[in-house]
Amino acid sequence: MKIKRIILFIVFLFVVVLSNFLTGHGLGTEKTVIKFSDFVYRITLDFGLRPNIGVSAGPDGIMLVDTGHQDVAGELLTAVNQLKEGDIKYIINTHPHGDHAGGNKTCGENAVVIGYDDLGQMVSEGVLTPGDESNNFYSLDFNGEEIRIIPSPGAHSDKDLIIYFTESGVVHMGDLLLTQSFPAVGPRVKKYLEILDWVFDEFPPSTKFIGGHGRDYTMVEVKEYHKMLQDTINIVHKKMKAGKAVEDMKQEGVLKDYKSWGVFLEFLDTDYWITSIHESYKNE
Ligand SMILES: [Zn+2]
Repeated sequence: MKIKRIILFIVFLFVVVLSNFLTGHGLGTEKTVIKFSDFVYRITLDFGLRPNIGVSAGPDGIMLVDTGHQDVAGELLTAVNQLKEGDIKYIINTHPHGDHAGGNKTCGENAVVIGYDDLGQMVSEGVLTPGDESNNFYSLDFNGEEIRIIPSPGAHSDKDLIIYFTESGVVHMGDLLLTQSFPAVGPRVKKYLEILDWVFDEFPPSTKFIGGHGRDYTMVEVKEYHKMLQDTINIVHKKMKAGKAVEDMKQEGVLKDYKSWGVFLEFLDTDYWITSIHESYKNE
């Protein structure tokens, strides 16, 4: 009798754990909500790669910048609806990777979904207005401000968009900014530095930056991040010029003072960054 009860209890536990797993509840889904302005927020669920979701929730309705992992899309929707009830009107994807666009289906049943490939179509449908020839951006007015969608391909992916909330002074950089990690740009480090230089020219000093993953940055912090990258590039570049092999640089730990940048997203560690720099500068 006792054994039967124990077995039943174990079965019960198993069902609870399984159902929690299937719905994405219970396991590490703490959330962070940051308010930037009257209508603009950042929501991050403590799940998977912890992608950052931009939210505009106000009189015109709800817009999401990215929808995160599919597994926790239901929880994202719940968190968004705690800010404001109603359907999602627009979803803008900074890029199509699964940790950023995985929740599109669940969150976007009645939404207009805008990604890099949809920009032309959105103009013809009157959803977006293109900038003039000197301004390579698309815009729409939502919740009292112009929201700019700025194509910026070629560093993280071929379909990256930067989203600028002009009145709130908030920029969602997608994976063109990983604030607690080395950048996920592979052999395109030079292209990435060009994008950062453009960012410094384009946005006012008071701008707040949401990265694809990690905490938010001020403009000063983006500049410090740029300096950290430049310092590490200089170290590796110097060793390359001296004829040092990539594997030896890793073995020697030439970036050991920068190990903390390889913790938040652990696959982007110092070994990865040494390879990236080497691949980017080997033909010089
Ligand atoms: Zn990502």
